[in-house]
Amino acid sequence: MNDRWNIIIVGAGTCGMAAAIFASRRNAKVLLLEGSGDIGGTLHISGGMMSAAGTKLQAKLGIKDSPQEHYDDVMRICRNTADPAVVRLAVDHAAATFDWLTDLGLPLVPQSPALTAGAHEPYTVRRYSWCPEFGRSVLKTIAPSFQAAVATGNVTLKLRTKVTGLIQDPRTRAILGVRTEGADGAAEYLGSNIVLATGGYGANGAMMAEFHGTPLYAMGAPVEAQGSGLNLGRSVGGFLKGAELYHGNFGTVLADYNYPSKIIGRALTMPEVRQPWEVYVDSEGNRFVREDESSVDERERALIGLPDRRYWIVFDSAILKDAPPVMEFWSREQIEAALGHHPMFLRADTIEELARQGGMNAEKLARSIAAYNGALNGNDPLGRKHRPRPITKGPYYAIRQHCTTLVGTVGLAVDGQLRVIDRNLKPIQNLYAAGELLGSWATMGDSAANGMMVTPALTFGRILGERLLQWDSRRAAAE
Ligand SMILES: Cc1cc2nc3c(=O)[nH]c(=O)nc-3n(C[C@H](O)[C@H](O)[C@H](O)COP(=O)(O)OP(=O)(O)OC[C@H]3O[C@@H](n4cnc5c(N)ncnc54)[C@H](O)[C@@H]3O)c2cc1C
Repeated sequence: MNDRWNIIIVGAGTCGMAAAIFASRRNAKVLLLEGSGDIGGTLHISGGMMSAAGTKLQAKLGIKDSPQEHYDDVMRICRNTADPAVVRLAVDHAAATFDWLTDLGLPLVPQSPALTAGAHEPYTVRRYSWCPEFGRSVLKTIAPSFQAAVATGNVTLKLRTKVTGLIQDPRTRAILGVRTEGADGAAEYLGSNIVLATGGYGANGAMMAEFHGTPLYAMGAPVEAQGSGLNLGRSVGGFLKGAELYHGNFGTVLADYNYPSKIIGRALTMPEVRQPWEVYVDSEGNRFVREDESSVDERERALIGLPDRRYWIVFDSAILKDAPPVMEFWSREQIEAALGHHPMFLRADTIEELARQGGMNAEKLARSIAAYNGALNGNDPLGRKHRPRPITKGPYYAIRQHCTTLVGTVGLAVDGQLRVIDRNLKPIQNLYAAGELLGSWATMGDSAANGMMVTPALTFGRILGERLLQWDSRRAAAE
């Protein structure tokens, strides 16, 4: 309580570790507070896939690229829904972050850098890279630098210490420090700069319901992703942005209806991997997207547009027999064993019975399938081109997919220097936020752009670590 730290960082994850490493290099006195019992945050389970333009790796491979092209690509993919200042900051400094990692020996898969790995829209230039052990490779690469920073004595790490409140000057509204609860009980720490790097809310069902009106269908994020930084920011006058830009994937198959449920697999809905033989219908029984739509973003947006963000994949026994297995990594035998036995895998002798089992409207489902069958030799109502055969031969089947998300869309509002701002867009003095706490909307808008969470989290941590003291001295000179 008596010490005054140069920088207090809340959260020793992707962003917080980078911030501590770079602040330590400037001899800052850093207090790093981590609620869980370990460093690394989401990197333990993240894909850790990164994107950066103008890297040494690209130069070595003769790939011409620039931060402007990266910026244009991200904004094209999300139709300009991301925060321009935050995206600009991320892409302008991404190459330095990526080069830092590769200089440290980051192991990369041979495809790196690629346009995409398939899950999201491709870039126009090869700038997307990943590692054999995904996020854990990134963690292993930076962990020695982090341990070295702790060894210098510049960084004091306190694990199992959760920040529960911010200390605010009632007159100036400047942030003076933090309140914590931990193994040693309650405490207060004072600091000149407070960096919130607490990650997202992807494991917080109440926030999913509050922000997006959707249940937390599955637990894809670490359990620590409870959005505590959003509440800390709100408690001192900060505000949240991005709720209308909710983004999730095109669906996964859940273990059961007790949300959040386990994910047990996903259907192969990517036409570049497997062309669709089935039709996709919403909870009413209506088709809602052209199943062979090549843009993953278009497919995801169609699903996100449904009120309950889930759908049925409907097919018949002829398709089950002749089409390549529809579930990724599942054999035909595994799929057959689940149909009619697992709550997400229906089997019925008639379309009407299938609708009844799935809670669909039988007339609507029958009409959707009849229209699809009838259009096989003409134009599909939704413009689908790949229509190998009608759905006419019972028994009939349906597999349920739920739109799930790994990250939180909503974030704490900041300015171009990552200062937390109030509703009048004025910085709340001494308070910064970075990483997923800014919300995926800030760097990716209403879409998913390859690598635009991990690279920005590391980059913003690095920038804050490098610049905070500089900004401090400028501020002191101005005062
Ligand atoms: C399964 C999965 C795969 C992903 N794959 C990719 C990918 O390939 N590419 C990509 O770009 N993005 C990916 N992401 C997203 C990306 O990994 C995260 O957005 C990013 O790592 C978050 O970094 P962060 O530093 O903001 O938060 P984190 O790394 O989550 O760190 C936050 C830390 O803060 C701690 N904390 C929280 N609240 C408090 C508190 N009140 N007091 C003290 N400590 C607190 C937490 O315990 C945690 O250690 C993925 C996410 C998931 C879940």
